[in-house]
Amino acid sequence: MAVSLETYSMEAVFAKQETLLRSLMKRLMKKSPFYKKKLREAGIEPGDIATIEDLNHVPFTTKNELREAYPLGLMAVDEEEVVRIHSSSGTTGKPIIVPYTKGDVNTWAEMFARCYEMAGVTKRDRVQVTPGYGLWTAGIGFQAGVERLGAMTVPTGPGNTEKQLEMMIDLKSTVLCATSSYALLLAEEINRRGLQDKIHLKIGIFGSERWGAKMRHKIEEYLGIVSFDIYGLTEVYGPGIAIDCPEHNGLHFWSDHLLFEIIDPVTGKQLPVGEQGELVITTLTKEGMPLLRYRTHDITRIIPEFCTCGNPYPRIDRILGRTDDMIKVKGVNIYPGQIDHVLRITEGCGSEYQIHLSREQGKDSVLIKVEGEENSDLEVVKRRLQKNIKEKIGIYTDVEVLPAGALPRSEKKTKRVYDNRQMA
Ligand code: ZN
Repeated sequence: MAVSLETYSMEAVFAKQETLLRSLMKRLMKKSPFYKKKLREAGIEPGDIATIEDLNHVPFTTKNELREAYPLGLMAVDEEEVVRIHSSSGTTGKPIIVPYTKGDVNTWAEMFARCYEMAGVTKRDRVQVTPGYGLWTAGIGFQAGVERLGAMTVPTGPGNTEKQLEMMIDLKSTVLCATSSYALLLAEEINRRGLQDKIHLKIGIFGSERWGAKMRHKIEEYLGIVSFDIYGLTEVYGPGIAIDCPEHNGLHFWSDHLLFEIIDPVTGKQLPVGEQGELVITTLTKEGMPLLRYRTHDITRIIPEFCTCGNPYPRIDRILGRTDDMIKVKGVNIYPGQIDHVLRITEGCGSEYQIHLSREQGKDSVLIKVEGEENSDLEVVKRRLQKNIKEKIGIYTDVEVLPAGALPRSEKKTKRVYDNRQMA
């Protein structure tokens, strides 16, 4: 499985993907009424798209189109080939329904099993699956991967903390799959009850929400585990399409089934490998509901370098945020996730912050308010942070370091960005 640094190249990865892309284009034209119409309208013949660069001419697929096609408007196989549907939880209006063939179910389990292997899970492990089952993709995806690998599933599903802890202790679960917030809840409960000596967890696989390094650290410490960040979305199989490896320096994704492009979220143009932008996914082998250039609105980048863990699959960075959160300052796109990252690597900085934008004499200025850790020299932290922001994000900002606990906390989504430029 391992390839050496000498033989690794993104070009080789792309070449394989382009072969699959060409057959996908033919298949869509033949089997998908939705894409046939869409491509015709864009004046594209399947033979026109031979390379990843050619994709620049292909219109994106949006979440809205998927909603409008409710319930099965994007199905690209005959009804008798569909064995299951899943659906995204729509916060507004109708949800998105995704049909799966036997092949899709199989591919998903295979990708998920790779995720477990990447995290070091073996046949001897007992995997407690706490994400929900049913229309949602999570629970059953986690379980299918465990079964494919040959480990033992403990399918508790969500909620009922008493039952979770009972199963975890009596069945000696070694792996915990959960959303990060549920993992934190369980970790705090285990800590509060002093159950650390009774549990046998080694590995945590957490996903579905963006979570800061400090939260991750707390969960790891309370549970005595190493944790891995899993990525996915219902429209594209579900969780399990990418996971971080023991190096914890990016998430490997399964490039033999999924083509990842990074685009400029404003212009829609493809960006060179290594640059940060919006992730756009094309499903190369999916049958029930293949997607061509699906906009995820998640911000990341493709990491061009070979991973030191030796795994040959390419990587994306951890998700930095959503395009909806993007702010443009001094001609540079910034995501709050980038600030998160810089705070993490800056010694003496807390995790809470606010970004204040203002405009004076036609010029943008940025003020970052953060908290210093207890007993840290606020002036030193300020200079350190200013330097790191300049280095990592490329802009000069004013920084104000406040004593620990000075910024407001919120149970819900914390307001981070204060844009006062319109009023100036
Ligand atoms: Zn790796």
